[in-house]
Amino acid sequence: MSTSSSSPQLDIAIVGGGIAGCVLSIALSEYKIKHTLYESASRFGEIGAGVGFENNFVRVMELISPSIKEAFLRCIEPVSDVNPTWISVAVGDTKRADENGVILDTSGGESKVGDIFFTYPSRPGPRGGIHRAHFLDELVKLIPDDVPSFGKRLVNITSAEDGSDRPVLQFADGSTAIHSAVIGCDGIKSRTREILLGIEEAARPVFSGKYAYRGLIPMGRAIEIMGEEKARKATMYLGYHRHVLTFPIAKGSILNVVAFSSKQNWTDEEWVVPTSREAMVADYETWIPEIKGVLAELQRQDIWALFQHLPASTYFGKQPRICLVGDAAHASTPFNGAGAGMCVEDCYILSSLLSEVQHEPDLCKVFSSYDEVRRSRSQRLVQKSIEAGMLYEFEGPQGDDIDALISNMTTRMNWIWDFDLRLDLERAQELVRGSI
Ligand code: FAD
Repeated sequence: MSTSSSSPQLDIAIVGGGIAGCVLSIALSEYKIKHTLYESASRFGEIGAGVGFENNFVRVMELISPSIKEAFLRCIEPVSDVNPTWISVAVGDTKRADENGVILDTSGGESKVGDIFFTYPSRPGPRGGIHRAHFLDELVKLIPDDVPSFGKRLVNITSAEDGSDRPVLQFADGSTAIHSAVIGCDGIKSRTREILLGIEEAARPVFSGKYAYRGLIPMGRAIEIMGEEKARKATMYLGYHRHVLTFPIAKGSILNVVAFSSKQNWTDEEWVVPTSREAMVADYETWIPEIKGVLAELQRQDIWALFQHLPASTYFGKQPRICLVGDAAHASTPFNGAGAGMCVEDCYILSSLLSEVQHEPDLCKVFSSYDEVRRSRSQRLVQKSIEAGMLYEFEGPQGDDIDALISNMTTRMNWIWDFDLRLDLERAQELVRGSI
């Protein structure tokens, strides 16, 4: 390891205070690595929606800090109540059903619309859906008071003029800051990514061909519409070019609803545009009454365009030193329910590697080792997720063949859920240690 006594000690800039930025800040604090978290908003905040973490991601939270796992546990139902089913799956679209609600699929199989035909088992251990804002509030409590700097919208990064490769951050309010490195956690519309990748096509997000309606329903009302069994568990309804996911959050008191649909292009500047209750329900015209009932119950009527990133050629730059984490590195569609989990994985690997170096010249080796182990796994999620969206909307090679769907679903999450991330950390540590 380099011991150059003349090089300054680490002082990291994190840009963005979503799940990735907050988890990274907690991780760096655990290792007593000096850092500042720059957030463009005037305070930390998340949208009123749900997010799910499977047990493999909860294990990584614990590896970073037991306090993050405890924060998560405070947001879910008691572990003893956690349901061992990831998602129950039914067809929700009656488009090809006969008068008895039976679909004869392309392979000659039959299924009854609305009936659960498959349950994805989850892996044992704490997991489940949580309210985003509740979880972020819990994370924020773990960030030291002197770390966040609000109202700081990053607009540019240049290299320090002293030849040190230190980045100079320029903010919209005219202020600047100089640090050992910038870690961009600034989400799918990342400015850090644009600066790093420049003219590369992957610098900016692209429309995925899917959009969503999202909202929350009090659990009592959800049970009236969907019945106890479906409302109290995660349930996914498949259909033609559409699918719907519902799962309980806030310790089972609220049902989180996301209804996905398809569109070739997105031309609006805004990614969230208002619509009407009637238009939402009409989008699901051929669907079963329980889904129309759920959609009619959503308090906000917005369309959320779903964008994603094309694969970046790198997650880091040397001059000046920049590294990408979370959605800034690999924004994905949500069909595998693992984008935020990948943020947590990034933070585990990067913070552990950073804890092994003390001097700025060693940072690039840390970033390149992080890039080496994280880029393929996180970009695989982006690819596999859009494939999952097509599968659930009968657009994949399986069409609406229920047996083929079940066979695909049975194994499609294994690579995410059954991987021991400590192996990737060991590989990255060897890369760092071998090069310093
Ligand atoms: P963000 O949450 O976008 O945070 C970025 C932060 O950076 C924000 O606070 C922003 O204000 C700040 N910022 C932006 N630009 C600047 C700037 N220039 N200067 C300073 N600050 C800036 N994942 C799962 O694991 N499970 C799920 O169940 C799941 N469900 C999902 C459902 C939907 C419909 C969607 C769209 C996504 C879902 N995801 C899920 C993915 C998950 O939401 C994201 O992967 C995760 O929230 C990304 O976190 P982040 O911190 O990287 O980015």
